Amino acid sequence: LAELRAVSRVFALPGRRGAGLTAVDSVDLAVRRGEMVGLVGESGCGKSTVARIMAGVLAPSTGTLRLGGRDFGSLTATEARAAQLRVQMVFQNPHASLNPRFTVEEIVGEAVRFHRLVPRDTLADHVAAQLLRVGLDPSLRHGHPHRFSGGQRQRIGIARALAVRPDVLVCDEPVTALDVSVRAGILNLFLDLRDQGELGILFISHDLSVVGHVCDRVAVMYLGRVVEEAPVDALFDAPRHPYTQALLADASTPSPPASGSERIRAGAPALSERPSGCRFHPRCPAARPDCAVREPALRPVGPGHRVACLLADH
Ligand code: SF4
Ligand code: MG
Repeated sequence: LAELRAVSRVFALPGRRGAGLTAVDSVDLAVRRGEMVGLVGESGCGKSTVARIMAGVLAPSTGTLRLGGRDFGSLTATEARAAQLRVQMVFQNPHASLNPRFTVEEIVGEAVRFHRLVPRDTLADHVAAQLLRVGLDPSLRHGHPHRFSGGQRQRIGIARALAVRPDVLVCDEPVTALDVSVRAGILNLFLDLRDQGELGILFISHDLSVVGHVCDRVAVMYLGRVVEEAPVDALFDAPRHPYTQALLADASTPSPPASGSERIRAGAPALSERPSGCRFHPRCPAARPDCAVREPALRPVGPGHRVACLLADH
């Protein structure tokens, strides 16, 4: 449904002529119908940039976005607008992304009305159906979003995305801002939507354990690159990249970890200070001398399982 092929995105650095910040570096990532794909990594690793590229709202510097089997960059302006509607974003902060001046009905129906996706006299029914679909009482549609809880507002955000009948939902940290008590409900809603089989979902999170609960396939990003991609069971049972292993160790250790992983917890360097060779080498407990020199390519190590680590190159 939506696919990035060798996509990179370089942002210009103010005051540094010719210098650019490579936020996303040669990323391949596909989202298919009926599956939920996780994209995991620390903040600043390029996840949100991937999200915006996949939604067709940010152009890649190189590489291609394919939507519905077609190269997005080759579409006419009219076709591109239609294709953009097929990919909808759900944001982290449902408060900031819902305009408090509008009613729920206006918010959920806005893009549908603007693009004339349903006949005018059925718009109210269409909005009510979307609210039902996300588990909200349709009678709430006359209210204003600030009157609702965080969980309800996120459901409104999802209803708004669903209203234009997308093929793909790109969800950027969709439960991070929510109380733990309402997270499960929202995650179950995503699972229901996936199980209905019509949508592909890209689920972006810094939290590997959340992704492990809901996703079918997971890609792990580090400093702009996908360093490991695998079906969720393979990733959790047999992670091959030292960074994934560290994330998993953190996720399963609620108390302060043993000193062995301190280096990893020290935080990723800024994108502008990208290390040579394998970009994880300064933090990697398994690093060898050539890791600072050679950059590992993403290579298959099992069914649907790819890893970018020199130790996995056999
Ligand atoms: Fe660690 Fe080397 Fe593998 Fe990079 S290539 S993850 S530094 S072992
Ligand atoms: Mg982000």
